Amino acid sequence: MSVYRRGMTPASECLFCGIVAGDVPADVVHDDEQTVAFRDINGQAPTHVLVVPRDHHPNAASLATAGQGGVDALVRTAAAVAAAEGVAEDYRLVFNTGAEAGQSVFHVHLHLLGGRSFTWPPG
Ligand code: 5GP
Ligand code: ZN
Repeated sequence: MSVYRRGMTPASECLFCGIVAGDVPADVVHDDEQTVAFRDINGQAPTHVLVVPRDHHPNAASLATAGQGGVDALVRTAAAVAAAEGVAEDYRLVFNTGAEAGQSVFHVHLHLLGGRSFTWPPG
């Protein structure tokens, strides 16, 4: 069992670092210098893609604070994937931050959901 507290996953133990490195298989739909995008293993919509930075950051605020334009890059990639998937007109982008907000993998990821209608508020 990990000795690391929730949210403190080191990059060496991180699932999404493993996907970025190509050590963990994933259905990758886009990759570039800063980002990798792959289909969620438990898709909640016809299009459900996770966009991650290559560098390990636990959440969106950490990525933003690093000051390298990483959040912009995630949103740009999400928009490009939405266009490629034919859902560019209507899609939802979500960053869950913290376990109580639904975060289960502590390598920041932007959920891109599209291809169906969505309700508000979310559950
Ligand atoms: P979170 O709950 O942290 O916002 O989102 C984590 C997402 O990662 C979930 O939607 C979950 O289905 C997805 N996920 C968990 N493990 C894997 C995996 O091994 N491969 C892929 N492609 N997605 C995963
Ligand atoms: Zn990571």
